Amino acid sequence: MIFIGPRNLLVSRQKSRFLASLGITASRVRCEELKGDPISLAVRRPVRYSPPRRQILAGDRQNVKYCEPMTAIQQNVPLKPYTTFKIGGPARFFATASTPEEFRSALDFARRERLPVFVLGGGSNILVSDRGFDGLVIHPAQKGMEHEACGEDAVLVRIQAGEIWDEAVRKVVEREWWGIENLSHIPGQVGAALVQNIGAYGQQIGDVLDSAEVMEIETGAVRTLFPKDCRLAYRASIFDTTAPSRFIILSLHLRLNSLGKPNLAYRDVRDYFAERGDAEPTIADVRRAIIEIRDRKFPFPREERGGNAGSFFKNLPVRKDEFETLRVALARNFPTSVMQRLEEIRQRSTSEHIKLPAAFLIDICGLKGYRVGGAEVNPQQPLVLLNRGGATASDVLALARHIRRTVHARTGMILELEPQLVGIEEKGALDFHSEKS
Ligand SMILES: Cc1cc2nc3c(=O)[nH]c(=O)nc-3n(C[C@H](O)[C@H](O)[C@H](O)COP(=O)(O)OP(=O)(O)OC[C@H]3O[C@@H](n4cnc5c(N)ncnc54)[C@H](O)[C@@H]3O)c2cc1C
Repeated sequence: MIFIGPRNLLVSRQKSRFLASLGITASRVRCEELKGDPISLAVRRPVRYSPPRRQILAGDRQNVKYCEPMTAIQQNVPLKPYTTFKIGGPARFFATASTPEEFRSALDFARRERLPVFVLGGGSNILVSDRGFDGLVIHPAQKGMEHEACGEDAVLVRIQAGEIWDEAVRKVVEREWWGIENLSHIPGQVGAALVQNIGAYGQQIGDVLDSAEVMEIETGAVRTLFPKDCRLAYRASIFDTTAPSRFIILSLHLRLNSLGKPNLAYRDVRDYFAERGDAEPTIADVRRAIIEIRDRKFPFPREERGGNAGSFFKNLPVRKDEFETLRVALARNFPTSVMQRLEEIRQRSTSEHIKLPAAFLIDICGLKGYRVGGAEVNPQQPLVLLNRGGATASDVLALARHIRRTVHARTGMILELEPQLVGIEEKGALDFHSEKS
């Protein structure tokens, strides 16, 4: 009965009445001013959003000029189930998009309604306000992975942004393409992986990025960005720093290697294979090792373990002179055992900057297991804040403020948040100076 396609729908009032008699209401179809017969009809998934009447009837009253987006727009969608923290209120509007046309259509809708847009991937690196998000949430759902050989040992793999990151890693490991195996078991989608330049166990996505296809939120234009355009740094890129609401990442091109070798830069990974007497692990062995190591320390979010958003604070890259200042500050407040641990951290560092683990600072301040409402500092891995059941975003923020205030007071260091705050103004929410200890 109905042709489903990406084009607009042209129907007369009479025919729209006929469609209504079939149960297809005006809010479910996209109509434009009638420019004559014949009719072409495009009906997408049901649209639950009913726009104000004045928008439906623009122009000639004989004809319906209807500006409904082609993408299904839902209203008042709870975001909690879309996050690994299992926290947060509803999105005023919510759309899932799989093609550039669907993204554009959702963006058109947001522009018309003057709504802010938030792109939601797997929800594993966000904290959503208890009030929710007063705008349009767009959830990328495009799937697919293609590859082409590039010279003797390189493979260029294009992965769509809506793919699950760990599924993509599993597939490339099965094909024995090296480069992202140490990034196994990081939750979330492929597109979001570039946003904070995900990294773990000596690898980061920026090391293998060839290019990213992105859509400009303002214009809907599709562009290719190269690594230098993305300004990738430690847990940062333009997508979460200088241009946070400018682009939707549509797909990534990763340059992997078919003749690679294990990256055993991290002690945990080296020890894993040394204990097993395995001097030449395969890529599948490396993935298995990473999953086991991570699962011990950094549990993949499952509800019975308490929701979380991974590391809640970033590690701190500290210059050598700053490190000396820190050493003096810690010597005043902490016992020799802490100073020995600090020295071990310094010795482990091979670069100009010493990577100071935020977990170390939280631990030495005695905050493991500290709780506000339903939110708790993970007693095993203090970098992770847990939703112990019923935690609100306010609980998590109050806990984060307490941690930042205590760490600052005792060490002089200021911890920076890793997850993005959604519907929450960061400056106000995290300001710990104005509060009493
Ligand atoms: C248990 C656990 C372990 C983790 N371990 C690590 C780790 O080892 N290393 C690490 O780096 N991270 C880690 N993370 C953090 C997180 O998994 C990653 O940052 C991940 O890439 C987030 O993906 P997501 O799809 O869930 O993004 P979301 O949480 O949905 O979004 C994060 C940000 O990316 C933006 N975004 C999402 N998709 C797009 C897109 N297509 N285009 C533009 N912007 C987009 C969002 O707007 C938001 O600002 C961990 C998290 C958890 C819960």
